Amino acid sequence: MTSKHDGDILGRGKSQGADLIRDWFGQLSAVAQNGGDSAYVFVMGSLVELLGAFDLPVVFPEINSLQTAVRHVAHEYLEEAEDYGYSPDICGYVKADVAVQLRGGDHPAGSIPRPALAVLTNACNTYIKWAEIWERMYDTRMFTLDVPGTRSATAPESDQQYRADLAYVDGQIRELIAVCEAMTGQRLDLKRLGDRLRNANTMNTCWKRILELNRRRPGVFNALTDGTIYLGVSNALRGTAEGAQYFVDLVEELEYKADHGIGTVDDETYRLAFVGVPCYPSFRRFNEMFTEWGGEFVTSTYLWFASGGSNLGFQYDPGHPIESLAEGTLLSVRDAMDSMFHQDRVLQGMIDDFELDGVVFHPIKSCRTVSTGLADGRRALMETRDIPTLFIESDMMDRRVVSEAQLKNRIDAFFEGLASRRQREMVEA
Ligand code: SF4
Repeated sequence: MTSKHDGDILGRGKSQGADLIRDWFGQLSAVAQNGGDSAYVFVMGSLVELLGAFDLPVVFPEINSLQTAVRHVAHEYLEEAEDYGYSPDICGYVKADVAVQLRGGDHPAGSIPRPALAVLTNACNTYIKWAEIWERMYDTRMFTLDVPGTRSATAPESDQQYRADLAYVDGQIRELIAVCEAMTGQRLDLKRLGDRLRNANTMNTCWKRILELNRRRPGVFNALTDGTIYLGVSNALRGTAEGAQYFVDLVEELEYKADHGIGTVDDETYRLAFVGVPCYPSFRRFNEMFTEWGGEFVTSTYLWFASGGSNLGFQYDPGHPIESLAEGTLLSVRDAMDSMFHQDRVLQGMIDDFELDGVVFHPIKSCRTVSTGLADGRRALMETRDIPTLFIESDMMDRRVVSEAQLKNRIDAFFEGLASRRQREMVEA
């Protein structure tokens, strides 16, 4: 059912999200053109709430790189980095960024300022080697935050162990504050940090709600396509008033769709989970190969780990900003690592919560961190749950290893299997 308000609200999240990302790149371009410095960060443990309190412009090299693929020019950047000496086998995000740096910050969305500081976590081992490239190129100061992972798959962490982990992260964050104070010549303003944490709280609450809303039938957003736009804003504008308002508006839009039974495909026939990193070089077409069959991605592990664990909806205590930032970082980054490395456990809950008909595993050539365990994760899932799965390989950046014809063959066969399974179930019912 639709109403006269549809035109005001439907699609708002997509268009406003694209505007915000465009403006954000515009601001970074202005910094680059004025010769200003920036802080380079990663999606898992970005700490942008803290860096923003020092007015440090923040660059997400992962977002820059995926943008080259979505804009169909990634191959130019990859080839440039390979000609420079980087192996075809390594993370495509790294190579696209190397080419951006070799071009003096030239990027299809604008100019990227140089890094004065790189903040990275141990969530992906590539982060550390990637930041060393900037260290060699620009003498960039590196700050590595070591976040202790989940201690056991079954036993809860003891209170003593948890407090030790928390103190460890807290101590490192205080070291980062000292680095930022020395770099900027500003003392940390705890009130400003508290304000940013309040905005992050709103964004976390909304992010959790948005993910939950897709449990409704029909799903109100596509986790692969729409979700990636939301994710960009969630990372880039984290802790800002604009980011918080965007997510409040987005929840309103998606609640409206849920209340009015408005889905994203005409006929939602199969509800799917996506596991891995999207195929950005063929972003739209990849998704169409599923929607043409009435398949809708209602959830993904990507929206969990690439949001840095915002799916938890963690609420900071702005009255104790540093301690609370440490706790939120520990819990969120740890959760992001778990949903990346142990997807089979995450999927156990998703299958029931989202009433899934199938799970699509998408390992990619140039992200070993996410892809390495996917075959085992699939096998573990199939040993415990009776759910159809599809295992298709392509890449997040490199169109040379994306074969649409091969993908389509596999995807078509998957849906034929889903259709006959459904017919069988109807006969047996
Ligand atoms: S290896 Fe994967 S997780 Fe690590 S930086 Fe590259 S794309 Fe991101």
